[in-house]
Amino acid sequence: MPEGPEIHRSADAIADALVGHPADTVEFHDLDEFKEHEATLQGRSVRRVEAHGKALLTRFEGGWNIYSHNQLYGKWMIRQAGDLPDTNRQLRLEITNDYHSAYLYSATQIEVLQDDELDDHSYLKKLGPDPLGRETDEADIVERFEATDFHRRQLATLLLDQGFVAGIGNYLRSEILWSEATHPREKLGGMDSDERRELAEATHRLIRRAYEKKGTTVDDEELLAYADQKGDETACGRHYAYERDDGECPRCDDEIVCEEHGGRNVFLCPSCQPSP
Ligand SMILES: [Zn+2]
Repeated sequence: MPEGPEIHRSADAIADALVGHPADTVEFHDLDEFKEHEATLQGRSVRRVEAHGKALLTRFEGGWNIYSHNQLYGKWMIRQAGDLPDTNRQLRLEITNDYHSAYLYSATQIEVLQDDELDDHSYLKKLGPDPLGRETDEADIVERFEATDFHRRQLATLLLDQGFVAGIGNYLRSEILWSEATHPREKLGGMDSDERRELAEATHRLIRRAYEKKGTTVDDEELLAYADQKGDETACGRHYAYERDDGECPRCDDEIVCEEHGGRNVFLCPSCQPSP
């Protein structure tokens, strides 16, 4: 499933195609409950396209919004206006202006909402701060890690909880834990506040880097230094630990292993990240 950085990049691409132009066509397919909104939305300009955790809000002028959550299979495709993608997927939503069409395909959750309904929306209201959100900075993430409500759960499950911090999925979880040499079974309550702050800062930094570098979590300078040390420019790929269970830990050279925590795979270094 795409994680926060991928959803934000998707929002950027849809925004490039739609923002600032009146939508000539807004069509819902197999969503009879929203048919009545097509006439309301057509002719309105798209003001912004925003990612909220793993959901998207397409925000129209006049206080109207289309909420969409892609779950596992949903996919947006952008084309020249009127060009229909060659796909067997089931079309759910089309938004077309003079220049582009944005199509949303496959099983996905779609709703039409007015601005005053957003604060009370069942998914949106539960989201924690999003490190890629326009109004979130590093201090907000540090504050979240200090909130004692979250101190009793294992980080393996806490980090995937969108109500704690929005946008973390499986690859970011492995990378965040590896970067601060933290075992997935550790809890925030078992750390001192310096350790919590460093983990929060790593969370903020790695999500932002993955957004800027299209999913890569490794820092450029560290990657170069490591490749130089190993004499192999592919020694460390896009990630430090995630899906590198046949490789060496970039910090200590021990072998990265894959363990199941919270029902999903975590990639970690048993030497750097000992079990608590
Ligand atoms: Zn290690």
